[in-house]
Amino acid sequence: MRVFNFSAGPAVLPEDVLRIAAGEMLDWHGSGMSVMEMSHRGKEFIGIAQAAEADLRTLLAIPSNYKVLFLQGGAIGENAIVPMNLMHGREVADYVHTGEWSKKSIKEAKKYGRVNIAASSEEQGFTCVPDRASWRLTPDAAYVHICSNETIGGVEYPWTPDTGDVPLVADMSSQILSRVIDVAKYGVIYGGAQKNIGPAGLTIVIVRDDLLDRALPITPSAFHWKEQAAADSMLNTPPTYAIYIAGLVFRWLLALGGVAAIEQRNISKAKLLYDCLDASDFYSNPVRREHRSRMNVPFTLPDPALDAPFLRGAADRGMVQLKGHRAVGGMRASIYNAMPVAGVEALVAYMKDFERAQR
Ligand SMILES: *Cc1c(COP(=O)(O)O)cnc(C)c1O
Repeated sequence: MRVFNFSAGPAVLPEDVLRIAAGEMLDWHGSGMSVMEMSHRGKEFIGIAQAAEADLRTLLAIPSNYKVLFLQGGAIGENAIVPMNLMHGREVADYVHTGEWSKKSIKEAKKYGRVNIAASSEEQGFTCVPDRASWRLTPDAAYVHICSNETIGGVEYPWTPDTGDVPLVADMSSQILSRVIDVAKYGVIYGGAQKNIGPAGLTIVIVRDDLLDRALPITPSAFHWKEQAAADSMLNTPPTYAIYIAGLVFRWLLALGGVAAIEQRNISKAKLLYDCLDASDFYSNPVRREHRSRMNVPFTLPDPALDAPFLRGAADRGMVQLKGHRAVGGMRASIYNAMPVAGVEALVAYMKDFERAQR
């Protein structure tokens, strides 16, 4: 029996995708082998990778002057790879600090150049996105970095900041493909696949052409965007199986009607859960309303002693991975694209029962 898996990542995948992958495991389309066993230079796998890229381009309407790279190292790796690829000849990079994941990005960037914290919500306990008007940007910065959805704090940008001529770089690990975005407003978008796309091991980087000439000479070839772009992300062996599964997820999304369609479903799922939190004085969520994440919903119970019984009861009903991150405590429900509405409905029903049972 499948559970409702609320893990923040690696996370739930569409059951349809898992079934297709299971059916193709031993013999992919008459090739006599599994995708895992194929050469990345063979025509079968090159076809798989090209289809995955084309479908991602369709889903996000990626303009033709952007490269799509399938790399490795995760978003934490990319936190270092970004400054390596963009800091050449530049002094400063601007960062907006909105929580745990921005903090990690800032820590890595400091190894490669000077970091200016252009804005921070630290004083608000990382419960909001700082107003754009308060940002103190550096006019000739290498780039401005944001984390568009803080997976741990549950804080999400509802808008795309305008950074003028300075390229906007976003860690979109837990937001990509959950809502319609205008790629042209970004210089670079990156994210690990294991939240909303596929298995761990694949990092997606979408980078505007004109930003490919700014790499520090120390940049390793495997992490050098221009070299990887010239080699169709196959300068080294790419994470072939993860790319294949990501491609199946892209097809699944296209069949559902694309990003605009899943965004509507995501809005209703998030509303179900936040309405439940707001209707109760038992559960709480500290995030400013307009910055609440649609993907990751942290909440607390009135007494941490209730956490363990809450989690046990949830597991008994087939709902797992609801324990909050150690940095914030309490609970966290991650409700990515592949989480069915029925999973959120089951969680809300359980939360109401649990609350009632405490009175
Ligand atoms: C999960 C996550 C990461 C870390 O990704 P890794 O693949 O573990 O490197 C970074 N940023 C955000 C926003 C995340 O959600």
